[in-house]
Amino acid sequence: MEIKIDRKDIAFDFDGVMADTMGLFVALMKKEYQRNDISVSDITNYDLRKCLDVSEEIIMDIGFKIISEDCYSYLRPIDGAVDVLTDFVSAGEKLLIITARPEKKPVELWVKNYLDIDESKFDVVATGDFNSKTDALHDFRKKYLVEDRIETCFHLKENGFEPVVFVQPWNRLPNNFIEVNSWYEISNLFG
Ligand SMILES: [Mg+2]
Repeated sequence: MEIKIDRKDIAFDFDGVMADTMGLFVALMKKEYQRNDISVSDITNYDLRKCLDVSEEIIMDIGFKIISEDCYSYLRPIDGAVDVLTDFVSAGEKLLIITARPEKKPVELWVKNYLDIDESKFDVVATGDFNSKTDALHDFRKKYLVEDRIETCFHLKENGFEPVVFVQPWNRLPNNFIEVNSWYEISNLFG
């Protein structure tokens, strides 16, 4: 069955969907800790402590850099995200980004840097925790969230929302949600 989604009904997660956050983690492990043995495909759990032989201190150190305000200068977009989201906004829809990050400013700076769209064309909600994403979806009257953390996808479904799983090595749990492998596949969802 071909699924079509109205642009007005959908919101997007940031890390792991729009931004190549785990790619940056791997790059920083190489650059700052000379750990050349880790690749993105090794990240089979969103909780890095559960899938990588790396200390919690190092994970925290890199995590801090990844969520910092100047992350936009080194946190790259995932292939296709910029084109598809630029078209999304050109189609007249306001972009809603829902992140579990504690601060929205780094995401706003990133969007302005990569998407080159006016501040009036997008909103960022930083919930500070994963489960509160449902509140943001409710407040903005959205039905779908493109999301890479599978535990969040299950939580969304339990609360009446439709997750769109952005397939990543860390979300390969059996599910019957809509799954997309690329931004090209996301663009094909729009009617
Ligand atoms: Mg994410």
